[in-house]
Amino acid sequence: MDGGARMSPAPVRQRQAGATGYLTIDLDALRRNYETIATTVAPAKAATVVKADAYGLGADRVAPALYRSGCRDFFVAQFGEAEDLRLHLEGNARIYVLNGLQPGAEVACAEAGIIPVLNSMEQYKRWKSAALGQGRTLPAVLQFDTGMSRLGIPPEDRAAFATELATTGAVEILFIMSHLASADEPDNGQNTEQLAEMQKIAAEFPQLGTSFANSGGVFLGQDYHGILTRAGIAVYGGAQTAGKSNPLQPIVRLDVAVVQTRTVSPGTLIGYGGTHAARSEMRLATLAAGYADGLPRCLGDRGAVYHAGVRLPIVGRVSMDSITVDVTALPPGTLTLGSLVEVIGPHQTLEDLAKSAGTISYEILTGLGHRYHRDYL
Ligand SMILES: *Cc1c(COP(=O)(O)O)cnc(C)c1O
Repeated sequence: MDGGARMSPAPVRQRQAGATGYLTIDLDALRRNYETIATTVAPAKAATVVKADAYGLGADRVAPALYRSGCRDFFVAQFGEAEDLRLHLEGNARIYVLNGLQPGAEVACAEAGIIPVLNSMEQYKRWKSAALGQGRTLPAVLQFDTGMSRLGIPPEDRAAFATELATTGAVEILFIMSHLASADEPDNGQNTEQLAEMQKIAAEFPQLGTSFANSGGVFLGQDYHGILTRAGIAVYGGAQTAGKSNPLQPIVRLDVAVVQTRTVSPGTLIGYGGTHAARSEMRLATLAAGYADGLPRCLGDRGAVYHAGVRLPIVGRVSMDSITVDVTALPPGTLTLGSLVEVIGPHQTLEDLAKSAGTISYEILTGLGHRYHRDYL
């Protein structure tokens, strides 16, 4: 995809006794990616999105590393994630909950110092009651729907909000935000339509700054930056723009161990359902990762792994805990029990793997699971 020009996290540094899968996460590359984004959007500030356990990479390690890189604004999707994250960040880090304020969560949210993204008048009113009940001002963000129809205040409620904010100070609105539906496609007309709507909203709330851009939006230009951007996938090295070269570095490498090798004669059936019959004599290796470790089942007879740059096709179905690959292209004896092969790395990027599974890097990352030995560089 990128001709191997981009750096990739170093191979496994140290074997862990008994471990059969190694997920290497390069926190230094993470920091460089954050700095690239922060520079791109300055003078706007760069928040990061660390929902879903920092896209599966471990929010407890990733968020503090981003904090050390200067990030002070962190978005998660759910209140529980915010509570967990609070324990790993300094008090001056701001944590926002994108999915809004659930009924009954008001006091816990206020007490934990977590900032809800309010998506409706009903949520706003409950947050205001909590503020009045506690006799203090509580912070919040208002999200408006600009055309994605997912989360946010609908256009018909904007006037009521404008009136409300002019008359009461119990809730301090830090900024207003919206989310782009097609920012990964720079030429998609939905971007400019949403931008026009966002600018209209900004004019209705002239006292407030805006936050609009996800990773794709960061690279759509200054019009999209507002006062605070919200990159997720770009920080983690995923391509944020379909079909364009990626200015950010991969931060993830995945190596999986061989747990058995064998040679099979023509006609031998391989894997569940016997869906693959060896056409000729084949050498096989069984690797210790399957769909429970985030290798989608659809990679069966479709995807591949790499060893020393040689492509090793997955043969037969993906099992829960293993895949079987054809290693005939390697000299006999190259792979033995415990040898590591590359699933994500310099020869197969995260995007390549996602593509061969018919999905996106986000889904691969968040699905990687908890059975790999994790090494944070
Ligand atoms: C997930 C999410 C983001 C981050 O998106 P990326 O494409 O990963 O940069 C930003 N804003 C909102 C509202 C989100 O839900």
